[in-house]
Amino acid sequence: MKIIIVGCTHSGTAAAINAANLYPDAEITVYERNDNISFLSCGIALYVGGVVKESDGLFYSSPDQLKSLGVKAHMEHDVQSIDTEKNEVTVKNLKTGEVFTDTFDKLIATMGSWPIIPNIDGIDLENVLLCKNFEQANKIIERSKGAKNIAVVGAGYIGVELVEAFSLDDKNVTLVDAAPRIMSKYLDKEFTDVAEKAFQAHGVKLALGEFLNGFKGEDGKVTHLITDKSEYEVDMVVMCIGFRPNTGILKDQVEMLGNGAIVVDEYMQTSVKDVFAAGDCCSVHYNPTDSTGYIPLATNAVRMGTLVAKNLLEPKVRHMGTQGTSGIKIYEHNISSTGLTEARAEAEGINVGTVSIEDKVGDIYRLPSDVLLGLGQYRKTAHEVEIVEMLEICSVLEKHAEVTIIGIIPEDIVSVQIGLTKTIENKFMGLINQALEDIEKLDVKVTKKAEQKSIAQVCKGLLGSYNDEYDERIPNEEDTTRR
Ligand SMILES: Cc1cc2nc3c(=O)[nH]c(=O)nc-3n(C[C@H](O)[C@H](O)[C@H](O)COP(=O)(O)OP(=O)(O)OC[C@H]3O[C@@H](n4cnc5c(N)ncnc54)[C@H](O)[C@@H]3O)c2cc1C
Repeated sequence: MKIIIVGCTHSGTAAAINAANLYPDAEITVYERNDNISFLSCGIALYVGGVVKESDGLFYSSPDQLKSLGVKAHMEHDVQSIDTEKNEVTVKNLKTGEVFTDTFDKLIATMGSWPIIPNIDGIDLENVLLCKNFEQANKIIERSKGAKNIAVVGAGYIGVELVEAFSLDDKNVTLVDAAPRIMSKYLDKEFTDVAEKAFQAHGVKLALGEFLNGFKGEDGKVTHLITDKSEYEVDMVVMCIGFRPNTGILKDQVEMLGNGAIVVDEYMQTSVKDVFAAGDCCSVHYNPTDSTGYIPLATNAVRMGTLVAKNLLEPKVRHMGTQGTSGIKIYEHNISSTGLTEARAEAEGINVGTVSIEDKVGDIYRLPSDVLLGLGQYRKTAHEVEIVEMLEICSVLEKHAEVTIIGIIPEDIVSVQIGLTKTIENKFMGLINQALEDIEKLDVKVTKKAEQKSIAQVCKGLLGSYNDEYDERIPNEEDTTRR
């Protein structure tokens, strides 16, 4: 069996390593246009901020590791086209310029995503930078050294992390976003208020509710950022306004969403037999709304890449979908979230119940960063009460902490449950009971409180990060058939 993997960051690396282990007789070829694999984009802000000092810390695999597993790892090779009828790819060797074709029995598309670049005046000026790969990370570090005034456009997780790093490096930082709040897609206002206050306390200018119109420059270099409301002096700008799937080479050959994300089923199969896809180039099942969406996260990418390999010959292990779980540290605040925000739930027309708990005890909140407070949602089936989804898990941990739990309570939900990771559940029992009491006061039917233990397991299963435990989080056969 000839397997070709196109692109090798998280989903491609996971697919290659797992396929090499599962199919020792297969001929596995990886084509990657960069000279590295497995780059941790999520470490860019830490690298920029000097927390990660050596660039080695930004990679967890290498072409040599793939080669040692018998994988033909071709770096600096760009796949220029894919023909899914002939099972053929055309590849350009970027070092020599040679163009050649290769054939496959199974193709794994893991081409990922690329930053959205708006078509506005001045976008090509020097020092208007992107933030995605290793080369760009190095450019950001190099250019920021001589920059005094830095603007970041886009107040999602990536932009916000960079702003923190630049502000701690004593730069004058402006964060621009058309939305009225930072991280508005991931967190409700009670949490973004805390984070915004922290940025302001560190001297960051929040240019929120401002629409980017373009840039002005001198001698080809950016000098001003212009919004619909104001103009800012800048030496450097980082564009962080989102990502698009990198799927041009499969256009009109496999089913895609409107934004170009390849539609895959729960076994990572595209609409074409023998063509599979994983990671940022794909759609993913979003559990909270039971719909297909585009949620580019490394956690999804690793999980999907692993599942592609497992399902290559026959559908074996289903993808459990995602809640879009994420965590971020902003100065002293550790914030995590999963599932829908209250605002998004309302926008989706979902009946939302909210419980906010504010506890001022003090010491109890000096907790490790793995703290997680969660609310689960359960649906009764013919056989059992099963977990439908995790709702928002969100905690801002600081001396004076607030923990908000948001539950979405559709008609057929028969129970709600609040749980914590095992390490802290004892400390938080008071809060859990209080929250359950509060939930019962809402206009919802709460008929069953499942055991804390099971929710702790769910929390563990939903939290994603790169470590050796990863395999534990891939659902087993039994888990995957429950839903
Ligand atoms: C700054 C930043 C911070 C992030 N932080 C987090 C975080 O904290 N947590 C989290 O879960 N996610 C985070 N993400 C998102 C995460 O990095 C992506 O979800 C993840 O990289 C997706 O992995 P992937 O392998 O599917 O795609 P990509 O990382 O996009 O990799 C695709 C690869 O395919 C290659 N490629 C594309 N087309 C071709 C072609 N035609 N021929 C050859 N090679 C090709 C590319 O060179 C690339 O190496 C962050 C992203 C960024 C940019």
